[in-house]
Amino acid sequence: MNMIRSELKFRDLFPRYATDLYPTVNYSEELCDTLERIRGEIRLLARERHALILAHYYERPEIQETADFVGDSLGLGLKARELLETRPDVKEIWLCAVRFMGDTIKVILGDRVSVFMPEFAGCSLVGSILGIDFDYRTDSAEEISRRLLVEQPRIHPVRKWVDEHPDGLVLSYMNSDLESKALSYAVFTSRNAQKVLEYVMRENPGKPIFMLPDQYLTELVLRRAKIYGSTVIRPELVEIFPGLCHVHKQKISPFVLDEAMANYPEADLLVHPECGCAVDCLIRAETGQLGSRKTFIASTQEMIDYAKRSDTARQFIVATETGHVYTLRKNVPDKQFMPVTPAATCEFMKSTTLDKLFKSMEENNSASYEVNVSEDIRKRALGAIERMLSIT
Ligand code: SF4
Repeated sequence: MNMIRSELKFRDLFPRYATDLYPTVNYSEELCDTLERIRGEIRLLARERHALILAHYYERPEIQETADFVGDSLGLGLKARELLETRPDVKEIWLCAVRFMGDTIKVILGDRVSVFMPEFAGCSLVGSILGIDFDYRTDSAEEISRRLLVEQPRIHPVRKWVDEHPDGLVLSYMNSDLESKALSYAVFTSRNAQKVLEYVMRENPGKPIFMLPDQYLTELVLRRAKIYGSTVIRPELVEIFPGLCHVHKQKISPFVLDEAMANYPEADLLVHPECGCAVDCLIRAETGQLGSRKTFIASTQEMIDYAKRSDTARQFIVATETGHVYTLRKNVPDKQFMPVTPAATCEFMKSTTLDKLFKSMEENNSASYEVNVSEDIRKRALGAIERMLSIT
């Protein structure tokens, strides 16, 4: 899951792999050299502080190149847990990602280390659970992140559902808030959603299930179950929460994908299940409407594995956040990866900059956010995560 930091200098790396993904950033030689100098200072600080730096795949390239590990939210937590067993010297984790990922890592690691974030960034998918609505074209990521920190629904929607369905079971996506996870029977990821749902329905026949928060991901799971004739999954028992991520819904629509396919008629498709085009892609692929073009709808990590082992395709259109296109290019340099649209960026992920990470670490944490989770909620959320791990 982790990406090794490149041996190449930033000035050789970013103009090649990142320029088209960040049209508003000019990765000039001067900027690359500045970023590389800051990276060097951050690595020194990490050594002095006995710290590990983790970053999500959607982070800026200079952040990915500074981190010890790059991965998805569950992968980072599990990797950190594995590493801490062999590295008793590690005292701090610095996470570059969005806030709910910090919560997840703290749930997995407990009190063993302090977890800090240079930015407590929000997430529209989590916001949709909490009823925090916004328009990404007019509202700033900072303002939305702030609202996510302070605004809480009077009654949490998952608590309400649980109270109304005493025999029901909640399944929450890894990309959800802590309260949802703590109220869940099991957590799932985009990689194992189908498997978790099948297991839970087999073990708890006839019970109502509440699956949240990503509507497209849940719809995809149910549609796949129908297409492939699952005898276990009963869609009529599954209530779908209508939550959506603004990047995957509004920025990656079926229309945007059609445009990309017209521009790259030979390219295969890598599509994240949260995308607005995912169900549409599945139906079109199954009914032969995509011709010889192969379609792989999968998690970020699976995309990397698939692209590596694919021996036919040389070109891929990537339908997910643009930061992952950089990761794919780095990990699979002999193939070509195009973003479905360069506009598919997550303002929350991009709000962490190298400069902020440096200042946060240098100023002895005064400019950073420490992740704290109450022990009661931590144990319950961990139970839901551990159940998922035991299933998959
Ligand atoms: S891409 Fe979507 S789900 Fe991921 S952090 Fe950004 S807003 Fe949240």
